[in-house]
Amino acid sequence: MTPYERSRILLRFADLVEKHNDEIAALETWNNGKIYEQAAKIELPMFVRLFHYYAGWADKIHGLTVPADGPYHVQTLHEPIGVAGQIIPWNFPLLMFAWKVGPALACGNTIVLKTAEQTPLTALYVAKLFHEAGLPPGVLNIVSGYGPTAGAALANHMDVDKLAFTGSTKTGKIVLELAARSNLKPVTLELGGKSPFIVCEDADIDTAVEQAHFALFFNQGQCCCAGSRTYVHEHVYDEFLEKAKARAMRRIVGDPFKKDVEQGPQIDSEQFEKVLRYIKSGIESNATLECGGGRLGSKGFYIEPTVFSNVQDDMLIAKDEIFGPVQSILKFKDLDEVIRRANTTSYGLAAGVFTKNMDTANTLSRALRAGTVWVNCFDVFDAAIPFGGYKMSGIGREKGIYSLHNYLQVKAVVTPLNDPAW
Ligand code: NAD
Repeated sequence: MTPYERSRILLRFADLVEKHNDEIAALETWNNGKIYEQAAKIELPMFVRLFHYYAGWADKIHGLTVPADGPYHVQTLHEPIGVAGQIIPWNFPLLMFAWKVGPALACGNTIVLKTAEQTPLTALYVAKLFHEAGLPPGVLNIVSGYGPTAGAALANHMDVDKLAFTGSTKTGKIVLELAARSNLKPVTLELGGKSPFIVCEDADIDTAVEQAHFALFFNQGQCCCAGSRTYVHEHVYDEFLEKAKARAMRRIVGDPFKKDVEQGPQIDSEQFEKVLRYIKSGIESNATLECGGGRLGSKGFYIEPTVFSNVQDDMLIAKDEIFGPVQSILKFKDLDEVIRRANTTSYGLAAGVFTKNMDTANTLSRALRAGTVWVNCFDVFDAAIPFGGYKMSGIGREKGIYSLHNYLQVKAVVTPLNDPAW
């Protein structure tokens, strides 16, 4: 298929998704429990935008001519890598689908994608729309299945040429090992995080409070890049804490289809129990429980928006990825100290910095070992902005121009100049 035809199919697909925006958003809420308004007005438009973006790349992928020493004509061909295996998680079922499928198809690959066992619905629905858009049978294959069986089979398979995985660091290590033991397929990993959110002395406190709240509680706290260590300068700590607590107490939790509701249920009983265990551990380790701390109601996996203050770096709630609506607030004195503490983690996915001083913003954004640093904002996602982790938060980058390299082989072709054989 020509690159232009690929581009046309991606555009037609995006148009079909746009046409079915509200019903796909409803399906995503049934799938995951996320807020319907968020699915319909933020995630679906982002999904469509991602496919428009990658449709734009499909006919602009090309190699180079290389000025090598000697009488040779040297060129590189950028070829599709082949069959891409993709394993996605449950927290953003559609967006994770788009981050993986968009670049892989733009580059001309075929795909076997495994959805998370908790959230099989929307990928199947949109795959049908791909068919309507003219994607030939066999190019995009969706498998609903469990991790240790269907997921491991993909990671282990000799005929899968590339693996892209998003999920926990623990499972990331397993799939990397399976890839190494089978055919050494290249692997990109998008894993967990424990992202610092740093509020400097000179920050606009009301904005910082609102953004810190959003950074942690968005999507029921089920974000790999959640700002889950809120470091606040000692001079503004008390004011910040009081406002952060008040904001969490105002958070509306309930039926994700209802208007004005901000937080739905956790994904399943396993995650629900895990989050409650972390809250218990925070209380037992003597962090101060400012609000929340328990189950909300008696039906469904709803958890009260929870805020801990006086959190210390060595507490489990400050070290582990909780993946729930639990904000941990820590106090710091100066920049060197907060840089050191923010970087003392095995993760490195993202960071937030709030300050009015350009020098502080520059210093922190260079010093923090994280794949994304948001300054005076958080969770700004765009199809063109790369995303990925340092350290145990992953390998490689998704989105933007960077993700194309995950799905291409580079072949160097060397031909003599003035060859008598010509
Ligand atoms: P997980 O890593 O177990 O699951 C993610 C995906 O990997 C799913 O599709 C799953 O079926 C698959 N999988 C599981 N075991 C596998 C195996 N042995 N081989 C191949 N594939 C396998 O994550 P989870 O259990 O759903 O959630 C656990 C924790 O992971 C969460 O509490 C959270 O901390 C983290 N998480 C991170 C992200 C992220 O975006 N980085 C997303 C979801 C969960």
